Amino acid sequence: MNPTKIEWCDYTWNPIVGCSKKCHDENGKIWCYAYWQAKRMKQKCNKCYNFIPHIHRERLIEPYKKKKPAKIFLCSMGEFFDKKVDPSWQEDILEVIYDNKQHTFISLTKQPQNIPIIDYPKNMWIGVSLNGKYDDISFNSWCRFFDDLKDKVSIRFVSLEPYLNKKYDGFLRYFDWVIVGGLTGHKKFSPPKEWIDEIVKSCDINKKPLFIKDNCNYPIVKRQFPKVIKNGQNNSIRERRFFITNKKMDKPDQKTWNIGP
Ligand code: SF4
Ligand SMILES: [Zn+2]
Repeated sequence: MNPTKIEWCDYTWNPIVGCSKKCHDENGKIWCYAYWQAKRMKQKCNKCYNFIPHIHRERLIEPYKKKKPAKIFLCSMGEFFDKKVDPSWQEDILEVIYDNKQHTFISLTKQPQNIPIIDYPKNMWIGVSLNGKYDDISFNSWCRFFDDLKDKVSIRFVSLEPYLNKKYDGFLRYFDWVIVGGLTGHKKFSPPKEWIDEIVKSCDINKKPLFIKDNCNYPIVKRQFPKVIKNGQNNSIRERRFFITNKKMDKPDQKTWNIGP
């Protein structure tokens, strides 16, 4: 686990690295930040370097070593829900999460269509990352899917980063937390204040916590997190392993999915 400058978490933890999606622009140029970061690993791990989904089992022990509660970004260097990720790897990681109730594990995906519908540990939050390029059909599929996760995931959230399209509307009822951010780098972009004003207003009305990242340059500091039940975090339900391997998944029609880049 590594300390991170990502504002909404304390550490990143990468037991799985890699992703088969390789998000790219219309010219085929891969824009995935994790992909380019992984290119630095050439000397250490060939699969990391090639961004092939794989598990680093030696990292499964890491959360146990931190006793102080922390917010941990799960798989910042890949995609936990990628279709090439072996379900048995996911099960092993869910076990670690379940064991480490002192921590909150935050998973952010661009492939929500692959999220197995199972009961997740209550200290695992699952979010979808959207940057503004979707059509109405995919938006509806996406909402329907998160509705299916309502009783399965303790905190469902959406990360609007970079927030490039103020068309997002009516989505709040599917989520317990909202993150909004701008774009850094040479195409730097901060969402106009009026766009964020609207999200602030909606979150206030619906009583949803909102985290506005610094790169929005918004004049009001809003760094809210969902409230969780301490000491056990609702985890009184069962003591058993998490089974995904043989789970029949209820997936929306893949053709209706068009999330990102
Ligand atoms: S889904 Fe995420 S990890 Fe995979 S290529 Fe796209 S941005 Fe990178
Ligand atoms: Zn590796």
